[in-house]
Amino acid sequence: MIRTRIAPSPTGKDVHVGSISTALMNFAWAKKNKGQFIVRIEDTDRTRLVEGGEKKMLETLEEIGLHADESPLVGGPYAPYRQSERLEIYKKHVEGLVKKGSAYYCICSPQRLDEMRKKQQAEKKIPKYDRHCLKNQEEIKKKIARGEKYVVRLLIPDKEISFKDLIRGQITVSGSNLDDQVLLKSDGFPTYHLGVVVDDYLMKITHVIRGEEWLPSTPKHIILYEAFGWSLPAFAHVSLLRNPDKSKLSKRKNPVWTSDYLEKGILPEALLNYLSRKRYFYS
Ligand code: GLU
Repeated sequence: MIRTRIAPSPTGKDVHVGSISTALMNFAWAKKNKGQFIVRIEDTDRTRLVEGGEKKMLETLEEIGLHADESPLVGGPYAPYRQSERLEIYKKHVEGLVKKGSAYYCICSPQRLDEMRKKQQAEKKIPKYDRHCLKNQEEIKKKIARGEKYVVRLLIPDKEISFKDLIRGQITVSGSNLDDQVLLKSDGFPTYHLGVVVDDYLMKITHVIRGEEWLPSTPKHIILYEAFGWSLPAFAHVSLLRNPDKSKLSKRKNPVWTSDYLEKGILPEALLNYLSRKRYFYS
């Protein structure tokens, strides 16, 4: 069964019109294949949440006709579909990675990380965590047991990471260029990378179709899938919706929220039709 999804973050007043374009591709691919289209809310960045944003987003998707088979509104077998309600799931999974040696605890202070980064920049090196805590894991575990705040980091293997993108072909990056990504934050919330991989796997997503701005994150996701021992979904990174001059849509220059268009009287069907046909506007 083909299962696609969109995973918007409620950090604006509504769904970005570019996200509608990506949602449409996910919806169309699922429906063409008699599959299912899922909406999952990625609300783990608590500092950027916009009050009422999630409700408006779900309503707009319905209004425009991109009905979800599973979502916070309609439920489904893998509920809840809101990441903030799935914290125990991420914690359990990340602890499994620590046990396997694929991730490690880190208690470095923001000040230490800041100094480290400045020093690396001054030396013209790629800013990367220096694995200070990796060497002292037993000691750090004791400190954590005593209540010290911590994050969990992914141990990036020193090898080439390769995957196939359905649109862009084979992509290969060197692990030595990647930072030991934080997976679990000190507030107990997962980062995007942990949440997205765990949920796409558990929710049986077969095709991850998303904007090209997420392409640089995918090698980290591949490492995570491998560390968990999970098979990969298919990946397709689609071009962003752009202005005729190829510049990015920006809140300062363009109406970017879907409701901005609907409130002007543009019919939902007309907007969907436009987004599906205007290939010229894609980079
Ligand atoms: N939460 C991400 C967003 O806001 C999802 C990216 C993805 O589809 O993996 O777009």
